Amino acid sequence: MKRALNFNAGPAALPEAVLAKAKKEMMNYQDLGMGVMELSHRSKQFEAINDRTQSLLRLLLNIPDDYEVLFLQGGASLQFTMVPMNLLEEGSTASYVLTGAWSEKALKEAQKIGSATAIASSKSTNYKSIPSLSEINGKPDSSYLHITTNNTIYGTQWHQFPEKINVPLVADMSSDILSRPIHVSSYGLIYAGAQKNLGPSGVTVVIINKQLLKRSRPDLPAMLNYQVQADSNSLYNTPPTLSVYFLMLVLEWAESIGGVQQLERMNQQKAAMLYDAIDRSNGFYKGHAEKDSRSLMNINFTLADDDLSASFLHEAEELGFIGLAGHRSVGGCRASIYNAVPLEHVEQLAKFMNDFRLRN
Ligand SMILES: *Cc1c(COP(=O)(O)O)cnc(C)c1O
Repeated sequence: MKRALNFNAGPAALPEAVLAKAKKEMMNYQDLGMGVMELSHRSKQFEAINDRTQSLLRLLLNIPDDYEVLFLQGGASLQFTMVPMNLLEEGSTASYVLTGAWSEKALKEAQKIGSATAIASSKSTNYKSIPSLSEINGKPDSSYLHITTNNTIYGTQWHQFPEKINVPLVADMSSDILSRPIHVSSYGLIYAGAQKNLGPSGVTVVIINKQLLKRSRPDLPAMLNYQVQADSNSLYNTPPTLSVYFLMLVLEWAESIGGVQQLERMNQQKAAMLYDAIDRSNGFYKGHAEKDSRSLMNINFTLADDDLSASFLHEAEELGFIGLAGHRSVGGCRASIYNAVPLEHVEQLAKFMNDFRLRN
């Protein structure tokens, strides 16, 4: 069977080895005569999956012991609400850096909970860069500072991080978690929906400092309370068992190929192929992001006009490339090349970009 050339922005490609293993175990997990999604979430077999998934994530991201790892539902979008609900202190405000549509949404949701403001933004230049750290470092007191480390829709990514901030840093890493090493102890809280780099949709990873967890007030609704979720090892209610199992398989795969250092090297190599095709095209392709803010995950570009873009997308589709149209809010083209997108598929895309340019 031929696998699709899948450049979807999310849900996105999964490693073939993961799908093969899940297929093998689908009807009969560990000789139990049933599949993972038929197991009780209180069974020792599912608890083992839950615990192993957590340990693998701790290992791969080097998560210190004073952090909790939670597997929640509701997507990254529910974290836009849970973060301020749990972390925004009485009489205080929350600070947001706006780098794209997702950070705008995060701010908007926070403002429904309490006081929250944008302290820096690259909106006026159509989000083609990340605001400079000098705009952010040393900014006023607030309950936390929220950033979006990779901007899926605009194809920009943070490559340097705020320092000298005396407030907890909260990061939406939905579209670049596990793509490069991170220094977890620089953050108060990290969250990510799984469906870009970690697995299928349905599970959301939250990594939270235990000290910060103490801010969760007991009067919050139980499901929306980080402390309640932590106290029950993410088993307060029925978790998305199949998604957690897939997350485990993806993490096993990541470990087997050499962990995040190796993934970062592969991601740099893949992104370089497409950025080279853009940079060597004499302006035929125009990258959206400023060079120093370029994402290794989402490569956004435009062609001379809408007609040429349309014919590029049309030919690409005929050749089997999936998901290359830009987000409906920005147009143009976007190739999402998360961890599981094979190097050979990116090579084929770069080749197609060069061929198409020569013919047009
Ligand atoms: C996809 C995405 C989201 C939204 O995720 P859901 O799981 O659909 O809620 C939020 N933030 C970023 C950066 C994303 O890429």
